[in-house]
Amino acid sequence: MTLLELTDVTASYGPVQVLEGVSLSVPDGGAVGILGANGAGKTTTLRAISGVVRTGGRIVFDGQDIRGLRPDQVASRGIAHVPEGRGTLPNLTVRENLMVGAYLRKDRKGISADVDYLLDLFPNLKARISSNASALSGGEQQMLAVGRAFMARPRLLLLDEPSLGLAPSTAKNVYEAIRRLRIESGIAMLVVEQNANLAFGIVDTATVLEVGRSVLTGTSAELKGRDEIRRAYLGG
Ligand code: ATP
Repeated sequence: MTLLELTDVTASYGPVQVLEGVSLSVPDGGAVGILGANGAGKTTTLRAISGVVRTGGRIVFDGQDIRGLRPDQVASRGIAHVPEGRGTLPNLTVRENLMVGAYLRKDRKGISADVDYLLDLFPNLKARISSNASALSGGEQQMLAVGRAFMARPRLLLLDEPSLGLAPSTAKNVYEAIRRLRIESGIAMLVVEQNANLAFGIVDTATVLEVGRSVLTGTSAELKGRDEIRRAYLGG
C-alpha cells in the first residue's frame, strides 16, 4: 500500500518558486531516498510535506490530502520531521528532549519502553541521559533528533541529511542505527541525503531531483548501476 504520494508538487518561498514538479511515492513501511545536487530542492520537498512552505499539487498521506495543513496538523497525522541541523532543544536534557517527542502520547508504559529501546539503540545517549543536548557531539545530537522523532511513534519519518557535518565513521554509525530502527519498527522513511552511498544502505528506491523536478526514480540497485548517478553522487 502507498503511504505517501506526491504528485506534481510545487513550492515557493515568497515570490520565488523552487519546486516545479516533484512526484514520488513511499510505500507503507518502505524507505525512499531523495538525491540531488545542492539547491535541487530536497530540503524544500520535506518542508512541503510538513506544511512549512506554501505548496501546490497533491500530497496524499494515508489516503487523505494533507496539502495545506499546518505543521502541527501534519505531525498529528503521523509524520515526524528531523530537520537539517537537527533541531534538538539545547537547554533540555537528553531525556527531556525525548519526552518532548512523545508529547501527544498518553501511554506511559509505551513511552517508557520506547525510551529504553532508544537508549539500547543509541548507547551513547544512555551515558548522557541527564546531560543537556548542547553538551552532545554532532553525532549524538543527530541520534537524539532521530530518537525524539521516533518517540512520536510516527508512521513516516522525514530525515534531512542525517550525515551532515559528521565524520565518516560517525555518519556510518548513525545510518546503522537508522537501519536497525527501520527494520525493528517498520516505520516508513523518506531520506534526503547528499551522500548516496549512505542512503543506498537503507533505502529501497530513490528519486533524483534536478532544479526542483523529479527526473529519475529507481531501485537502489538500478540507480547504482547508472553511470550518471555514479559520477554525480557516488564519487566516480
Ligand atoms: P541543500 O543540500 O543545499 O540543502 P536542497 O536540494 O535541499 O539543497 P533546498 O534547500 O530545498 O535545496 O533549496 C532549493 C532552492 O530554494 C535553492 O535555490 C535555495 O537557494 C532556495 N531556498 C531555500 N530556502 C529558501 C528560503 N528560505 N528563501 C528563499 N529561497 C530559499
